[in-house]
Amino acid sequence: MSETIFSKIINKEIPSDVVYEDDLSFAFRDINPQAPVHILIIPKKPIPQLTDAAISDQELLGHLMLVANKVAEMEGVVDAFRLVLNNGAGAGQEVMHMHFHLLAGRSFTWPPG
Ligand code: 5GP
Repeated sequence: MSETIFSKIINKEIPSDVVYEDDLSFAFRDINPQAPVHILIIPKKPIPQLTDAAISDQELLGHLMLVANKVAEMEGVVDAFRLVLNNGAGAGQEVMHMHFHLLAGRSFTWPPG
């Protein structure tokens, strides 16, 4: 799997505003926030996009969602947040290291743009 800017962020070769870290995951503030709270939650394992995940990643994927809950709690937004995952360039994915966007702190519309 190819290295992306997110691998460098995990390795702290590139600085980021880290919100949470454990053995499997890393969460940091988006450099170009689209909401008052905009945090990226990523696996340390460099899975390019969700559709590259395997059955063996099942526990990791569940873990990332529980990390989202934890981060929302830490940020005081557990009552209302949006969790977004863009899978593939056609869906708006720019960094090929799968990630959830946790967005909160403003109202959201549906359907999303
Ligand atoms: P995507 O479009 O792939 O779903 O989202 C990639 C996100 O990564 C974007 O929201 C973008 O602002 C964020 N991003 C890209 N490069 C960096 C960086 O170097 N640092 C941080 N903190 N966020 C980044």
